[in-house]
Amino acid sequence: MDLHNIQTYLRPQSLDTVENWSQGWSWLAGGTWIFTQAQPDLKVLVDLEKLDWSEIEVTQEGLNIGSTCTMAKLRQWHFPENWTSLKALFRAVDELASFKVTNIATVGGNICLAIPASTFAPAMVALDASYEIWHPQAAPRFVPARDFQTGVQQTILQPGEVLRRISIPQESLEWQISYQRVCVATAGIAISIVVAAYNPQTSQVRFGLGACVPTPRIVNFLHIPTPDEIGEILDAQVPLNNFIEDYAASAAYRQHITKVLMQRSLLEF
Ligand SMILES: Cc1cc2nc3c(=O)[nH]c(=O)nc-3n(C[C@H](O)[C@H](O)[C@H](O)COP(=O)(O)OP(=O)(O)OC[C@H]3O[C@@H](n4cnc5c(N)ncnc54)[C@H](O)[C@@H]3O)c2cc1C
Repeated sequence: MDLHNIQTYLRPQSLDTVENWSQGWSWLAGGTWIFTQAQPDLKVLVDLEKLDWSEIEVTQEGLNIGSTCTMAKLRQWHFPENWTSLKALFRAVDELASFKVTNIATVGGNICLAIPASTFAPAMVALDASYEIWHPQAAPRFVPARDFQTGVQQTILQPGEVLRRISIPQESLEWQISYQRVCVATAGIAISIVVAAYNPQTSQVRFGLGACVPTPRIVNFLHIPTPDEIGEILDAQVPLNNFIEDYAASAAYRQHITKVLMQRSLLEF
């Protein structure tokens, strides 16, 4: 849709040329969400495309994904076969099931939009990813993926801050993965996403939960848990009043389904 109230469109080639950030300014990545809403409060769009932050880089520490990497580019990338945990990211793309969105939408845009049903957020949490955050006039800072989202469409980003890249540590790359997602209707919005990461060396299991709760949550086990242990720890760490209650599903149903998905995911290891 046309955004009639936009007064200025900036397309910087370098971040430090972005000055005087103020209310009504917004970063623009793929635009697949920004251009679907009226955006009455926005006056200035700062397009990230020319900054050329779409790299996928292998380093000694692990894997870096530039925030403006499109979902399609990530999906087509050839990773070493033993990096089994990256299946979680492929599933995060495939679950969106729209080539129109995946060819334009960016990994960073999905994370920064911070909707509960984000297909990437629980995967990043399960993979123990961290995010590098830049500001045109300040030093970079780093935050674990599990601390990035603070509410529905709310993140820790301060005015003018931008997600620069996502890093997945080497230690997580060879973990095994199960990605479970349930919707009430085919291709509808998810009511629960469970991404389980299993370390075959230590038997540790890390669950990233999304869609059932407003912000992605992590639940850790030092061994493969029994169904009773899953129920006990989930109730203690993510109590019923943490689950979303809305038109799509009650909190109790989301909690139940989440437990089922956690148990089911373990069958894949
Ligand atoms: C109808 C519809 C349904 C959708 N359903 C789902 C769904 O069920 N699950 C799901 O996971 N996704 C869903 N999406 C989201 C989609 O997958 C995209 O991730 C999303 O639209 C944003 O990607 P984008 O790159 O186009 O970002 P944009 O639309 O350009 O930006 C989205 C937001 O993120 C901010 N932003 C973008 N990049 C950065 C950055 N690097 N640093 C700081 N802020 C940034 C922008 O300022 C804006 O606020 C849906 C989108 C639409 C339009």
